Parts: sequence; C-alpha cells; structure tokens
Amino acid sequence: AKEAGKNQYRFYSEAAQSKSLERMTMESSLRRAVERKQFFLHFQAKLDLKTRKITGVEALLRWQHPELGLISPTKFIGLAEETGLIIPISRWVLHTACMQNMAWQKAGLPPLCMAVNISARQFEDQHFLDDISSALKVSGMPAHLLELELTESMVILQPERAIGILKELKQLGVRLAIDDFGTGYSSLAQLKNYPIDTLKVDRSFIQDIPNNEDDKTMTRAIISMGKSLGLTVVAEGVETQEQQTFLRENACDETQGFYFSRPVESAGIEALLRSHRA
Ligand code: C2E
Ligand code: CA
Ligand code: CA
Ligand code: CA
Repeated sequence: AKEAGKNQYRFYSEAAQSKSLERMTMESSLRRAVERKQFFLHFQAKLDLKTRKITGVEALLRWQHPELGLISPTKFIGLAEETGLIIPISRWVLHTACMQNMAWQKAGLPPLCMAVNISARQFEDQHFLDDISSALKVSGMPAHLLELELTESMVILQPERAIGILKELKQLGVRLAIDDFGTGYSSLAQLKNYPIDTLKVDRSFIQDIPNNEDDKTMTRAIISMGKSLGLTVVAEGVETQEQQTFLRENACDETQGFYFSRPVESAGIEALLRSHRA
C-alpha cells in the first residue's frame, strides 16, 4: 500500500509538472502569437426577431496556432488574463473589429453594430477608455455602432468604480451590454442603476427550451423585466427553430446562435448580408 501511495504521489507530481510545463509553453507561444499575427476574428450575426433584419455582429477571437491548429478562446483567454497578454490582444481585437466594420460599410453593406467582448482585466486597466476612443478614432467608426459586452461580475464587484467607467463609456457614445446574463450574482434590480443598453440571456437558459419548463419561465421573466427596464434583450445560443419561435412569441428582441448563423469569417458576413432578405 505504501509503494502504491508513493507511486501515486509521483504520478500526481509528474502530472503537475507537465501541467506547468504545458502552461509555460502555452504562455510563450501566446506571447509570440501577438507578434506573429496568429489571431483573427470570426463574426456571428444577430437577428432582429420583429424586422427579421441583421442588426449587428459579435466579434469572436480565434487563434491559428502553427502546430496545434485552431484554438478556442475558452482555452487561452484565462492564461491571457493571468499573464496580462489580454491587454495587447484586446487592443488588437478592438482595432480589427472596428476596421472590419468600416470596411463592410465601404463595401456598401448597411450599417452594423459591432459587439466586442471585454475581459475583466481590460475593464480594470487604466488605459481602457483611451483604448476604446483610439480604436474609434483610428477606424473612423461612429461610437454608437460599437457595443461592449461586459459580464455581471465585472460591474457588480466594484459598483462605484464600475458605474463611473460605464458613465464615461456612455459619454463616448458606445453601447453597453451585459453578457451571459443570469449566470452571475447580479439581479435586474441592481442593474437598473447601471447605464446599460442590452441584456444577453445566457445560453444555459435557452439550450433546454422547449423541454424545460423552469428555463422557459426564467427566460420569459428575464425578457419581460429587461424590456420593462428599457433594455434590448438578446438570447444567445439559439440552436433550433422551436427556440427561436418561443423567443419571438415572448417578445425577445434579438437572437444569436447556430440556428440563424454560426460565427463566420468576414467574407461569410458579407455573403450572409447580401443573401439575407428581411
Ligand atoms: P461568449 O461571449 O458567451 O460568446 C458566445 C460563444 O458561444 C462563442 O464561443 C460562440 O461561438 C458560441 N455560440 C454561438 N452560438 C452558439 C450556439 O447556438 N450554440 C452553442 N453551443 N454555442 C454557440 P467562442 O467563440 O468559442 O467564445 C467563447 C468565449 O470566449 C466567449 O463567450 C467569450 O467569453 C470569450 N471570447 C471570445 N472572443 C473574445 C475576445 O475577443 N475577447 C475576450 N475577452 N473574450 C472573448
Ligand atoms: Ca459575448
Ligand atoms: Ca455570451
Ligand atoms: Ca455564454
């Protein structure tokens, strides 16, 4: 038994060692990825359920690793936050997303709202506001076409500081969204004090509709409370026609999900907009 215990210990410590080696390797390749331009963006369309028009897109980060291939942001955003690399990466995302939106407009597409995900570390960064203004200035994109997707925890943890920043962002003219709503600790009652424009209902509420009655009840409640606070309500992760119908019948403003469109590269958005008839 003692031998087995020892072996187990060695097994765990080797596993831990290889984990930290993996982490170090990841960190240095993430560092290089910024310099070597291995990032690109995918865009996922948002559909207005009433007008059936595409209102905008969300920019989603992708990493094309030379050996490992395409890496999902869920695999590297955490490490990017811990190492601070999220700051230069996010600057690149903002800049690229705004430039792309203007390129679409120059190509004759209707004006689209560009949503960009903001990380907690970025929100805390002292240059955050400057980064936003500079992306708008350099790209020439009107501020009202930029929507920043924040999470509940970012704004709830330090409410005073957060409200100050949100107000300054509103002064710039950008739109503010609460992403993954319903998964954090905030309530709509708290959110009424925040100058936000959009509520994105988390996919976890949507995925078991129409089978799960509780999820249907929750989703209806979030939509109606969100709308009574004057917010645009968007449901994310809509994968089926039934889900889309449920949301339309319950007056959800917009949907986003694989049912209407997967995230695609920029040319895919151009094609989608040109072929989509409202
Ligand atoms: P998120 O902001 O909640 O983005 C939605 C995620 O759900 C995306 O995953 C999208 O591809 C996926 N999705 C969209 N529709 C459906 C659907 O119908 N079904 C399912 N199962 N999934 C759907 P993705 O692109 O892998 O991004 C994951 C997360 O990584 C994002 O979650 C966001 O938190 C983060 N992220 C992505 N891009 C950025 C970025 O530029 N900056 C920061 N800070 N975070 C980012
Ligand atoms: Ca998002
Ligand atoms: Ca989300
Ligand atoms: Ca989500």
